[in-house]
Order: sequence, then C-alpha cells, then structure tokens
Amino acid sequence: MTAATSEPKAATSTKPRARPRRAPKPKLPEPDHAYDDSAPARSALVPPRPRVPVTGAPTAEVPAPFAHNAEYEFARLLDFYGVEWVYEPRSFPLRWERGHVTEAFTPDFYLPDIDLFIELTTLKSNLTAEKNRKMRQIKELYPDTKIMMLKKRDYLRLLANYGYGTLTPGHVPEVDRVMITQAKLQQRVHELGEQISRDYADKEPILVGVLRGVLVFIADLMRQITVPTSIDLMAISSYDGNGAGAAAVRIQKDLDLNIKGRDVILVEDIVDTGMTLNHVMEYLQTKRPASVKVCTLLNKPARRMMDVTLDYVGFEIEDEFVVGYGLDFHQRFRGLPYIGTLKHDLLP
Ligand code: 5GP
Repeated sequence: MTAATSEPKAATSTKPRARPRRAPKPKLPEPDHAYDDSAPARSALVPPRPRVPVTGAPTAEVPAPFAHNAEYEFARLLDFYGVEWVYEPRSFPLRWERGHVTEAFTPDFYLPDIDLFIELTTLKSNLTAEKNRKMRQIKELYPDTKIMMLKKRDYLRLLANYGYGTLTPGHVPEVDRVMITQAKLQQRVHELGEQISRDYADKEPILVGVLRGVLVFIADLMRQITVPTSIDLMAISSYDGNGAGAAAVRIQKDLDLNIKGRDVILVEDIVDTGMTLNHVMEYLQTKRPASVKVCTLLNKPARRMMDVTLDYVGFEIEDEFVVGYGLDFHQRFRGLPYIGTLKHDLLP
C-alpha cells in the first residue's frame, strides 16, 4: 500500500509558534484556530507516494523525512504490512500565552486505518517524563484523539494486535512486502462466507478444493459458511499434454464423494491462466452435479488464457508471484498468515 508523505517538517515543528488565535479560556486553553482539532482529513494527509523500500538493511544515514532511524524502521515495517501512514501529520498546541501558541507537540506518525497517532520513543525510561507529560496534556486537551507512545517491542505487539501478523520482515527475508494482510484476509473470507451462506440457504453444498495451495483458504472459508457443507479434495499435476507445448492436467487424487446431483463449489487458491480451473471444471461436469460454482481467493486476470467464470472472488491482484496463506514457492511459505510478494532476485 502506498505510504503517505508528510507535510513539510517546518510546518509541523514542535517549536512554539505565534499565530493569531481566539483568547484562551482561563483554565483549559482552547486549540488555536490555525490548528484543526478534527481528525486529519484523509485526502489532505494521504497524497500518493512511493513506499519506503523495505529491502536492504537500514542505513546509517537516515533518509528524509525521518529524524531518527527508529522512525525510518517503523515506516518500513508499516509499508511491509501495507499499513497506511502519515509522518508528522499535525501539531497539537499545548500551551498558549497572550493568544499565541508557546508549546506544541507533533506526534511522529498517524495511522488513518485505525485512527491512531503514534509517538515513538527510544529513550530510557527516566528520560521519558517530559514526553509523558505532553502525552497526558494531549489526552486532556484533545480527549477524542487516540495517541500512544511506543517503544519498538510495543509497536511490534501493536501491529500483531491489529491483525498485521507477528512476523517481522527480518523473520522472512525472502518476502518483499505484504500484499494482503492477515486482517484483510480474515475480513474478506468472512464476507465470502456470508455471501455463500445467503446464496446456498436451504442447500448443502460440497466444497471441492484442489490441493495443496487451497488448504488454508478452504479451511477458513468453511468455518465462515453457516449452511451445512461437506468437503472433498482433489490433487492434480500439470504436464506437457500433447507434446505440442500445450499443458494438460492429470488427476493424482480423485474425489472421494459422489457429487452427482449435488451443488458443488469449486474452491481455488488462485486463478492465473485459468488452465487448471478449466480442466477441473470439465472433469467435475462429467460427474453430473446439480450445479458448480467457483470461489477463488485470488484472481490474476493479466495472464488469463481460458475463458472461465468466477462466481466468488476474494481479491483481484496484479501480475505478481505471491506466496503465503497456503500458496508456496518450492513448497515454502505456505504457513505465512498473509499474502506476500517475493524479492525479485529469487524468482526465475
Ligand atoms: P492457472 O492454471 O490458473 O494458470 O494456475 C493455477 C495454479 O498456478 C494455482 O493453483 C497455483 O498453484 C499456481 N499459481 C499461479 N499463480 C501463482 C502465484 O502467484 N503464486 C503461487 N504460489 N502459485 C501460483
């Protein structure tokens, strides 16, 4: 996901700034008019910008606009998980004198998806008193604002709590970036389950999956479908069918259930050229089911060769090789909780 650029730093300086404002109330000063107290408008704060590269080790030189390496690393981590962010989105005035702001606080990040401001701290605990005071003041003056001060171990935990997974880039160095987060996968699988449950009310469909990439998806999908279902699995292998370069598929493991007269949902991990799906559909039709619909987690239309109908699609994706959530590269990465892309130098 595209990360957002920051406002120019000078505009959000934590230094006291003099601006015309209304006279503050005696006890609790009101925010300056020049500073908008409402949550940052997404369109204003999130202009498109290339993401921070997550490949390569952090450099000694901290790239703009970041002030510290910790901020840069946090931005890289957010980009890895596809979490939208804004660097130093706004200043919160904290003190006024004679109508002028004399103290303000600018949090390091804003995460629009979860409406949260984040201030990173690498300071030792005895030095955080000043920041703590400012955080307390922000909470008093701007009670509707969600803001947290985080150390590195805290933000790794925070990302995990929000469903962005527990694996940091360093744990899976072959993965370039997360394309679809764990949270988005869960949400979409839930929606597909609801849709299928509505469409198959009063029916008892058989879910047919083609091993092995579909395993994780079919197991999650089944648990989101509220009508009774059965499950069956096939295994196929591709081979050079007729010696003329055209691929064909050979069934290595056939269905165990009799699907004659039954409603079948063919569940796929990804539809790419459509060859596999086309062959499996033709095969299933020979068993004379009452109906066959197709549910695929991912659809990669860019390389389509066969005209196939997809009834339920989780996500349409670009022409990139993806792994995780059941999908492999040389049998690896199936266990990743997200869909990610691999670093380009690994791919043939
Ligand atoms: P199709 O026959 O539609 O070209 O390809 C379907 C199969 O190709 C999928 O079931 C999957 O095994 C494999 N495939 C296609 N694209 C990808 C991808 O991006 N990642 C992975 N891991 N497998 C893919």
